[in-house]
Amino acid sequence: MTRMSEVERSPEVAVAAPLLAEAVGLVAHTPVRNSGTVGGSLAHADPAAELPAVALASDAELVATGPAGTRRIAAVEFLTGPFSTALAPDEILTEIRLPMWAGGHAFVEFSRIHANFAVVGVAALIDLDGDRIRRAALALTGVAPTAIRATAAENVLAGSDVGDMAATAAEAAGVAVQGLTPAGDLHASPQTRLALARTYLRRGIELAMSRARNER
Ligand SMILES: Cc1cc2nc3c(=O)[nH]c(=O)nc-3n(C[C@H](O)[C@H](O)[C@H](O)COP(=O)(O)OP(=O)(O)OC[C@H]3O[C@@H](n4cnc5c(N)ncnc54)[C@H](O)[C@@H]3O)c2cc1C
Repeated sequence: MTRMSEVERSPEVAVAAPLLAEAVGLVAHTPVRNSGTVGGSLAHADPAAELPAVALASDAELVATGPAGTRRIAAVEFLTGPFSTALAPDEILTEIRLPMWAGGHAFVEFSRIHANFAVVGVAALIDLDGDRIRRAALALTGVAPTAIRATAAENVLAGSDVGDMAATAAEAAGVAVQGLTPAGDLHASPQTRLALARTYLRRGIELAMSRARNER
């Protein structure tokens, strides 16, 4: 029942879940955010939507409520396909639990026209331990039937030195797109989607890293 515009303006969300705050501001334009809800966007599970990627990168737990009671579903299990979720027909999404993340965040995306659905989007979370990356979480929209985690790229980032951020981000972005086979449509060919994913991953990783460094 929480409208996106409430989340966008919430000082608490800005502090506790800055990735969500940043992503929600990129969803369409103000009238859509005044009407659409965070839970509705997740339950709708559009592969181009921002908030499923936020849930995935954040290791969110989604609480489903039905006649049999409530159950928690990990975000990675919640998204089962395009416009499909693990919710049973008699369940609704009643709660979204986002673990807090120390460090830097970024949600970046490419959209042909401001406020249109993004062709490709990237959610990035990076936590530092001194000059090394303690852990990283990356999720992508627009390159698969659902939002996906870029686990191989996260493994490249984990433990790496932030001294040469540009090279580290470029390497991780290259690894992330290996093996992806996005569909082409009238918005972008598969090749364009892959090129955009690589570019926006690099930008998202660099922005999250620099924010993590400034927050120390
Ligand atoms: C012009 C336009 C541009 C848009 N651009 C974007 C964009 O750039 N990015 C983006 O992410 N989205 C975009 N959207 C989608 C929009 O963000 C809505 O948030 C999204 O469709 C969900 O809206 P809603 O919360 O009103 O849910 P509804 O539209 O009411 O519901 C969507 C579906 O989810 C189900 N549902 C809703 N809430 C729950 C719940 N709590 N539990 C279980 N099922 C539920 C409904 O039954 C329905 O099947 C756009 C929409 C419009 C009209």
